[in-house]
Amino acid sequence: MNLILLGAPGAGKGTQAERICEKLNIPAISTGNIIRESVKNGTEMGRRAKSFMDEGRLVPDEVVIGIIKERLAADDCANGFILDGFPRTIPQAQALDNMGVVIDRVVSIEVPDERIVARISGRRVCKDCGASYHIEYKKTAKDGVCDKCGGEVALRKDDAPGTVAERLNVHHEQTEPLKAYYEKSGKLYLVEGQEEIDDTTRLTFEALN
Ligand SMILES: [Zn+2]
Repeated sequence: MNLILLGAPGAGKGTQAERICEKLNIPAISTGNIIRESVKNGTEMGRRAKSFMDEGRLVPDEVVIGIIKERLAADDCANGFILDGFPRTIPQAQALDNMGVVIDRVVSIEVPDERIVARISGRRVCKDCGASYHIEYKKTAKDGVCDKCGGEVALRKDDAPGTVAERLNVHHEQTEPLKAYYEKSGKLYLVEGQEEIDDTTRLTFEALN
């Protein structure tokens, strides 16, 4: 089965991708990971991506698409794959179609913005050892102090409410239209993200059956 997982940043689609991967035994392909991999392996597209990254620029669509194409041609994708983090825009979805990649299902994990902001802005990370905590779900024993190493536990800039809201706006503008794109071909399945990850997983598998 060839799958695309959609969802706002922080909606938890990465976890669902891993679980589908385990159950269906098809690879979960995250764009960030395969770009890093192709750079490390020095593939043709990886070298092109690196030249942009070295200059601190975004890797352009045509290169990202080239890297996806290389990855989907690998043997382990013969029985299917899960794309996580791609496509992010309509032009990327069209490029995928133009490559002749047939998508069977698109699952969108739906979580309201307020919940994503609350969840992410509650994260706290140790400045010394990188251990992560949450002010509601995974508290440190002592306020602001890492349980593991005693270091200072703080909110990262990436997790600040303003930053998260900005990322969500980009998602609504660029990625949300993909739902209409895939709905037209009857491939879209919406899954309401639940408080408990296991509950979301159950709904995700229902959408795949
Ligand atoms: Zn620590």
